[in-house]
Amino acid sequence: KAMIDIGWNLDNSYAQLPETFFTKQAPTPVRAPELIVLNAPLAASLGLNAKALQSPEGAAVLAGNEMPEGALPLAQAYAGHQFGYFTMLGDGRAVLLGEQLTPQGKRVDIQLKGSGRTPYSRGGDGRAALGPMLREYIISEAMHALGIPTTRSLAVVSTGQPVTREKDLPGAILTRIAASHLRVGTFQYVRGAGTTEDLRILADYTLQRHYPDAEPGAGANRYLVLLQEVIKRQAALIAKWQLVGFIHGVMNTDNMTLSGETIDYGPCAFMDTFDPNTVFSSIDSQGRYAYVNQPYIAAWNLARLAEALLPLLHEEEEQAVKLAEGAIGAFTDLYHEQWLAGMRAKLGIFHMEEEDEALIEDLLKMMKNHQADYTNTFRALTFNKLEDTPLQGTPEFASWYERWQARLGRQQESWDDARELMRSSNPAVIPRNHRVEEALEAAEQEGDYSVMQELLDVLAEPYAHSPEQAEYAVVPKGSRPYRTYCG
Ligand code: AMP
Ligand code: MG
Ligand code: MG
Repeated sequence: KAMIDIGWNLDNSYAQLPETFFTKQAPTPVRAPELIVLNAPLAASLGLNAKALQSPEGAAVLAGNEMPEGALPLAQAYAGHQFGYFTMLGDGRAVLLGEQLTPQGKRVDIQLKGSGRTPYSRGGDGRAALGPMLREYIISEAMHALGIPTTRSLAVVSTGQPVTREKDLPGAILTRIAASHLRVGTFQYVRGAGTTEDLRILADYTLQRHYPDAEPGAGANRYLVLLQEVIKRQAALIAKWQLVGFIHGVMNTDNMTLSGETIDYGPCAFMDTFDPNTVFSSIDSQGRYAYVNQPYIAAWNLARLAEALLPLLHEEEEQAVKLAEGAIGAFTDLYHEQWLAGMRAKLGIFHMEEEDEALIEDLLKMMKNHQADYTNTFRALTFNKLEDTPLQGTPEFASWYERWQARLGRQQESWDDARELMRSSNPAVIPRNHRVEEALEAAEQEGDYSVMQELLDVLAEPYAHSPEQAEYAVVPKGSRPYRTYCG
């Protein structure tokens, strides 16, 4: 057999951590691996050879049938609050192969998702269906292109084996790339199942991996700095979600990373008609993870992280709690600052004025009242195509528009500069729900991947505002309320 060099450069730092943190676990081989989609630019940035990954040997690796050189496959242990209730979890259908050391000197996790049962599978089959894995691929790559920190998708292979859900579906495996898979739930797990020393090891590992430059000031505690830095990154992340109308759908503490990347694309979706109470997930009947709640839930999750870190924050519990509360208390302002800055940019405003927030809130209020499409309203403002919004023609919009124009007139930057700022802050395209469904349907039912490929190409440059993108911005009228399901 000819050897093709895929370009693996794997290290296994997580496998060096205390044994309670994981279980060694190989993927379960599948019948007939076939490559469905490969992210060639991502492969190249990881130092991997796309051609080699496209060969049958490459597909065998991406399916878990063969181990790459240097891999040490394992399932990670974690816990989590799911819809508010604490549970012991862990990788129930995923394995970490190792960490690829990239040509740029980065360290990223290579994880196979849908790779078979593990000790953490509970009742599950350890497998994933093709549709949801393609969905994760499409949306995670769209998020990346939008400039939002996220796990990436390297490839999807079909397994040639059905998975049984409500009916039999084609099975698949996603190769997920992440800065790491350290979660709030990882800390909750170690706090519950390990010693304080274990907790310290995990925190030191996280600091070294994601916050190597975070320097505690004189007399400051490095674990408090860890907490503060995670809070900063999550505040920035959630602000970015809100600004593009991304609804995660299942913000359990096991689905929140310490790196600040978005993770776990299950029932997520993008908001179309602006409504703060939008929920897409079929399992979120209470609306816990509605659009408007995402910042509060993030703060709640971070409070769970702070709780887990308490023994490291101070030897006296009362002092530790005080430090934790101080750190968590900063979230709201950090988030708000980022959100406001992002909203200003969406309206072409460069610097802060006191009344900007009212200007923004008034626009959002009108969008809600007139059931305006969130993305397309900002697009219409960017290109001054007001006829494209249902706001046009209403007296309240006319006066709002005047206020906005006056505001732009007050700043030193030119109108052209303002327009350019808006162009680069307002995406032309987002993964529209009907477009994603259409791509998945063609893939699942006809084995036609061209619809998905076209969609991926359009989503790869969301700020291009090219003529071809126009039809991807169209929202079908009178569509049923969109529902998402956990894959
Ligand atoms: P999620 O809701 O995607 O965050 O997953 C919650 C937990 O369920 C995690 O521990 C997953 O590994 C596990 N899980 C999800 N689907 C399966 C499956 N098909 N088989 C085994 N475990 C699963
Ligand atoms: Mg998860
Ligand atoms: Mg999931």
